[in-house]
Amino acid sequence: MEQIHNFINGEFSLPDSNKYIKVIEPATGAPYAKVPDSNNKDVDQAVNSASKAFTSWSKTTVQNRSSILHQIANGIDAHSDKLAEIESRDTGKPISLSKSVDIPRAAENFRFFAEHILTFDFENVLDGHGSINKIVRNPIGVVGCISPWNLPLYLFTWKIAPAIASGNCVIGKPSELAPYTAYELGKICNSAGLPKGVLNIVHGFGKNTGEAITNHPMIKAISFTGGTVTGKEINHIASKNLKKVSLEMGGKNPTIIFADCDFHKMLDTTIKSSFSNQGAICLCGSRILIEEPIYKKFRAAFVKRVRELEIGDPVNNSTELGALISKSHLEKVYGYIKIAKKEGATILTGGNKILFSGRLKGGYFMEPTVIEGLDKNCRTNQEEIFGPIVTLIPFSSEHEAINIANATDYGLAASIWSKDLDRASRIAGEIDFGIVWLNCWMVRDLRTPFGGTKKSGLGREGGDAGLEFFTELKNICMTDV
Ligand code: NDP
Repeated sequence: MEQIHNFINGEFSLPDSNKYIKVIEPATGAPYAKVPDSNNKDVDQAVNSASKAFTSWSKTTVQNRSSILHQIANGIDAHSDKLAEIESRDTGKPISLSKSVDIPRAAENFRFFAEHILTFDFENVLDGHGSINKIVRNPIGVVGCISPWNLPLYLFTWKIAPAIASGNCVIGKPSELAPYTAYELGKICNSAGLPKGVLNIVHGFGKNTGEAITNHPMIKAISFTGGTVTGKEINHIASKNLKKVSLEMGGKNPTIIFADCDFHKMLDTTIKSSFSNQGAICLCGSRILIEEPIYKKFRAAFVKRVRELEIGDPVNNSTELGALISKSHLEKVYGYIKIAKKEGATILTGGNKILFSGRLKGGYFMEPTVIEGLDKNCRTNQEEIFGPIVTLIPFSSEHEAINIANATDYGLAASIWSKDLDRASRIAGEIDFGIVWLNCWMVRDLRTPFGGTKKSGLGREGGDAGLEFFTELKNICMTDV
C-alpha cells in the first residue's frame, strides 16, 4: 500500500492521529494507497508554518514570485506523463483526458498567473480633487484552498497559483478520493524553490480536515470548489468569522441547439460536453435543448454516436469513458435512472451499470445514458447528477428555449448552437449563467472571469478576478505638506 503524506513547512509528514483513509482505484475497486486523516492539530501546524512564511513571502517581488511559479509549471511539464497516469488511476478518467486536459492545464494555471501578476495593477495612483491617493492591493495572509475530485490537480492549482502569485500562503485540501497528484505537487514545489511554508497540503475528510480549515481563526479566506451543499456549509461557518469566500459549485447546464447550426461541429462537441470525464465536469451540458425541426435528426445521430463511445480501462489510450469516482457516486448516479423512469422517461440508450471481468471486475462503470420525455421541472432535469446522463428536451421558439434553460436553481454555464449570431448573442444576454459559449464548449481564456450565478457560485475565479479575491485593497491618501 503506497503512503501519501501531508506537506507542511516543505516537509512530508504523517498525521497527528496516525489514522489513514484508503485510496481506491475506481477502475478496479481495489485500494492502492492510504492518505492521512488529518485533524485540527495538523491544520494548526500547517497554519503556523504558513504564517511564518507569509512574513517574507508577502514581501517578495512579483518578478521573484513569477519566476518560482514558472519553475513549478516547468516541474509539472517535466513530470507530466507520471502525473497523468496517477490522475487517471486516482479518478478513473481516461488517460487520454488526463494527458490532454488535466495535467497541461495544471501547468498552464501556474504559467498564466506567473505572467499575469507582471501586468496586474497591484498599485494605482489617483491624483486630483485636492489629494493624491495611492491604492494598493496587499495579499490577505494565510488562505484555505479546498478542491473536489473531478479535476483534481487542475482545480487545486487553479486556486493555489493565484493565491501564492499574489503573495499569500496556502493551506490546501484536495479531495481524499483523489489526493495523489496534490502529494506530487509538494515535491515539485520543493524542487522549484518555493520557500517552505508557502504551500501546505493537509489531506483528509471534508468534515474533519476541511472544517478545521474553514473554522481556523488565522485563515483569512476560503476558496472552495465542490458541491452546493458543501459550499453553503462553508459559507455559513466562514461568515461567522468574517472570512472572505469564493465558492464554485454545482451546475445543471443547458446545451441549446438551433436547426441552423453547423450540425457536425455541434454533434462532435455535444458528445464531449455531455460525456467528457464521465459527465463529471462542472461545465458539462446535462440538459440538451433541441429545436423541433431537427429533434429527430439530432436524436438519431446523437444516440448512434453515444453507442459508439469506447468504455473501458482508463489506462488504454483509446478509452473514451472510464470509471466513476466511487461506489457511492455510482449508486447515486444510477439512482437517477430509477428516478427518471418513475418520472416517465424513455431511456434511448444506456441506463445500466457495466460489470467487466478481469482487472476491471470491481470497477465503478456505467453506460452513457440518453433520456427523453421529461418535464423541465422534474427532479432529473433539476438536480445535478454529475455523471454520464443527459436529457433531450425539444423546444419550438427562442422564448421557450430561454424559459427551459433558465428553469433551474443553478447558473454555471451554457452553450448555444446557431449560425445566427445575433440570435445567439441575444439569448446569451437573456439566460442566467456565468459563462455562455456560442458555437463552442469549454474554450477557456484564463484572463476571463470564471464562475456561476444562483446556486452555482459566489464570486469569480480567473484573471484579474482571481488576484482581486486573494488581495485586500488599501487606500493611502495624502495632501500637500
Ligand atoms: P464536495 O462538495 O463533496 O467536496 C469538495 C471538497 O470539499 C472536498 O475536498 C471535500 O472533502 C471538501 N469538503 C466536504 N465537506 C466539507 C466541509 N464541511 N468543510 C470543508 N470542506 C469540505 O464536492 P465533490 O468533491 O463531490 O465534487 C463534485 C462537486 O463539485 C459537483 O457538485 C460539481 O458541480 C462541483 N464542481 C464545481 C466546479 C465549478 O467550478 N463550479 C468545478 C468542479 C466541480 P471530501 O472529499 O473529504 O468530502
